[in-house]
Amino acid sequence: MKGFAMLGIGKIGWIEKDKPACGPLDAIVRPLAVAPCTSDVHTVWEGALGERKDMILGHEACGVVEEVGSLVRDFKPGDRVIVSAITPDWGDLNSQRGFAMHSTGMLAGWKFSNFKDGVFGEYFHVNEADANLALLPEGMDPGVGTMVCDMMPTGFHAAELADVQFGDDVAVIGIGPVGLMAVAGCALRGAANIYCVGTRAKCREVATAYGATGFLSYKDGDLAEQILDLTHGKGVDRVCIAGGTVDTFDEAIRMVKPGGIVSSVNYLGSGDYVKIPRIEWGCGMGHKQIRCGLMPGGRLRSEKLAALVTAGRVDPGLMLTHKYHGFDHMEEALMMMRSKAADLIKPVVYID
Ligand code: NDP
Ligand code: ZN
Repeated sequence: MKGFAMLGIGKIGWIEKDKPACGPLDAIVRPLAVAPCTSDVHTVWEGALGERKDMILGHEACGVVEEVGSLVRDFKPGDRVIVSAITPDWGDLNSQRGFAMHSTGMLAGWKFSNFKDGVFGEYFHVNEADANLALLPEGMDPGVGTMVCDMMPTGFHAAELADVQFGDDVAVIGIGPVGLMAVAGCALRGAANIYCVGTRAKCREVATAYGATGFLSYKDGDLAEQILDLTHGKGVDRVCIAGGTVDTFDEAIRMVKPGGIVSSVNYLGSGDYVKIPRIEWGCGMGHKQIRCGLMPGGRLRSEKLAALVTAGRVDPGLMLTHKYHGFDHMEEALMMMRSKAADLIKPVVYID
């Protein structure tokens, strides 16, 4: 079979591989729609995970089950499924501790395009199918379904980690697709004002649809000063980081109130240290928490988030600005994610 791969740091292209084998608990899936992620960009061009040779990219896919192992109970060939980007080993002790995304090691629940071939192939392998697949709801477009694989669970995780409460003022730093889903998640959790950082006009338009109440730009100077101006010196209750750099934490700590929470789902592709400003952190006594994480994966989360979409609570389809048909457009879609055109939020490739 063919797959679109990272050939090495900074290099991409098509390769030939054997079709993956199916273990007793597993499934082999054929993609219906796939989406490239900013994380693929960090992995290939920043080498953020280290060297990877001839690894098929991608971790956002809806597909059709081609084959299941002998112990799989709930899925069968022909089922249309949402495949979580994070596919943990659910029996691992880190999973039992509540951190399935780190099953078998830090970040190791993230297997596709990290520790094994990803979903940009004619077929791909899913471990523990009963626990990691979810049925694509009747009538849901598979392109919209791909937003349930990673963008929704990650953006919503920012809102969860920040523990947003009714009436909170929140700053969401970064409103690419992940930050946009954080905006939607904060709005659903009852945030009052949601101040968003990001410049792309299309992102701002969709952020407004998801509940943003104001906008700032990192190009206009220090973000903390801007937030403190907007809030008459008070700051915000919560900050969700979904963009920026290692230096963004400094700004976030300075804009959050004492007792506030800074969450981050950003994948820090470069920089060796994160600096925390000592004074604004209350000399370590300000009860300003920093909570960062890889999103939780698995079937239950996919089913619950898909239910929010089918119930009409959130429409991740608003983010699909570029739709392609056919595997031949894979490279173009990935390069869009790298160049971030002004009108881009998220590209999706339908495998017709
Ligand atoms: P995008 O690149 O589409 O969006 C980034 C956003 O950050 C944009 O709004 C951009 O503004 C803004 N930004 C850029 N520079 C700065 C800065 N210096 N300060 C503040 N904001 C800035 O990214 P995605 O939404 O696709 O992904 C966001 C992050 O989430 C990535 O690092 C990605 O790898 C990570 N991720 C993490 C996952 C997890 O499980 N934790 C899973 C999936 C992704 P502008 O409008 O000007 O472009
Ligand atoms: Zn991703």
